[in-house]
Amino acid sequence: MKYGFHLSIAGKLGMAGALEEAQSLGLSALQIFAKSPRSWKTRSLRPGEVEGFRSRKENLGNLPGVIHASYLVNLAAEGELWEKSVFSLADDLAKAQTLGLEYVVVHPGSGSPKRARAGALRARELAGLGRNGPWLLLENTAGGGEKLGARLSTLAELVEDSPLGVCFDTCHAFAAGYTLGEALEELERSVGLERVPVIHLNDSVGQRGSQLDHHANLLEGQMGEELKNLLLDPRLQDKVFILETPRGPREDNHNLRVLRSWLEAK
Ligand SMILES: [Zn+2]
Ligand SMILES: [Zn+2]
Repeated sequence: MKYGFHLSIAGKLGMAGALEEAQSLGLSALQIFAKSPRSWKTRSLRPGEVEGFRSRKENLGNLPGVIHASYLVNLAAEGELWEKSVFSLADDLAKAQTLGLEYVVVHPGSGSPKRARAGALRARELAGLGRNGPWLLLENTAGGGEKLGARLSTLAELVEDSPLGVCFDTCHAFAAGYTLGEALEELERSVGLERVPVIHLNDSVGQRGSQLDHHANLLEGQMGEELKNLLLDPRLQDKVFILETPRGPREDNHNLRVLRSWLEAK
């Protein structure tokens, strides 16, 4: 099993800084934003930055990496917002390809499931992805409003008969009303676990069914040992686990200690 945090690329080293941090924390996977997640502005990669990133990644045993798409992206929207969303996601996919990152995760958005699916497929096309490109994953959500992806069966329909996969977020599933046991059963039945390569391991500030997308540190939210059982589930031992929990020296220390103690209990 591989595990890591969502890391920042804001430092001097940019993209490569995230790898350096992963190494110093002893992580075996990582997730990043390839650009500001709350702006449409994109930034191009410098040639030296790409080389630096790729060689560092290789030195670290090619630890698996995820790009999380911008929060502004809404693939289920109409008109200009849809166009902008597709373009932004295509940019992340192209960057993942260039940097040698394995996965890109996006929320399906609010509105029409048909457009969400078409948008995801169009972004792949625009990025010119071949067979060996990064795997585009749709993430389940906490729900509320017209947000797609709170029901795992909807997510299954979105990715059915397509090259798309699924990223499973524990906090979102809990906030959408699932126990993790139920959610895993449904994922296995409707999506197939081989199409769920990445799991976001987050505790939840809100109660089960609260629809609150607010991540908590392990064992400091409402989910308790449900997370441990998921982490140790024999069906998930080849998955990449990413913590999107609050960051800081105390938090990092706490979350890694809990995670590693759970893994030792195996
Ligand atoms: Zn997400
Ligand atoms: Zn997530």
